[in-house]
This record gives sequence, structure tokens and C-alpha cells, in this order.
Amino acid sequence: MLPIDFNREKFIADIREKHSAILPADIDFYVEDGWLPVVADGLQQIQDFIEKNRWLHKAHVRQIKEKFGELRIYVRPRYEEHQFSDELATNLATVRDNISRVSRHTCEVCGDPGELDVIAGYHQTLCGYHADRRKAWISHGRPDEEWRK
Ligand SMILES: [Zn+2]
Repeated sequence: MLPIDFNREKFIADIREKHSAILPADIDFYVEDGWLPVVADGLQQIQDFIEKNRWLHKAHVRQIKEKFGELRIYVRPRYEEHQFSDELATNLATVRDNISRVSRHTCEVCGDPGELDVIAGYHQTLCGYHADRRKAWISHGRPDEEWRK
């Protein structure tokens, strides 16, 4: 679970500073709070592999987002004419598998253990509490954003 005083802006600012070598300044974090620790862990793994493969200033993160209820972090060569070595491509695929597996069992909203499910046609990974809250919110005609609480 996230700490009670979790501060999204500060957490993201710290990630940006720590991983400035691989994060473009204008990259958006299209995930809810519960996954931000998974993003931090994934970026650390990605940066470690990039450094190990001597790609530090030639690779960057292009997108951080949810897709089909899973966390995705896309890493690409900075320059179109470059191509990842087989080793780095394999390393990055390992990270991709790790973070998608962890995210499939982590509530997007609060970080508690969760399950990937389809709710009203939309893939989401939520804990039991937030899955119930979301279903109730949908059945009441989506009145506001309060279901996350
Ligand atoms: Zn939750």
C-alpha cells in the first residue's frame, strides 16, 4: 500500500531527477498512483541495463502508460538510425515482462495486491475494494471521480 502521505508530484519529480539520463523532460506519467512505485522500479531496471550495455545517451523512454490493464514503459533508441543490440533488446524485454507481471497484480489506484479484470469493457487492475467501488460507480452512472477514495 502507498504511504498515507504519498505525494504524487514529489514522487514523479524524484523519478525525473533520478532518471534524467533516460527520461525526456516532457514525458508524461499516464498511470495512477498505485503503479508509480512499479514505474520507479522498472525505470531503475531499464537504466541499469542501458548503462551495462553502454547505451546511456543513445536510448530514452518514450511512453509510460496503462494498456489493457498492464503497465507499459516503451524504450527506444534516441536516433532513428540506431538499433538496440540483441543483448539490450533481450534485457529490455525481460524488464517489460517483469513490470507487466507485477502491474497485473497491483491495484492501479492504491498499490495493494490486485487482479486484472474487465469492468464494463475496460481492462483494469484493481484490489477488491477499488473493483467494488468502480463497479458501484459505474452502476450509479459515473457521478464523479470519488470512486478512487
Ligand atoms: Zn486499490
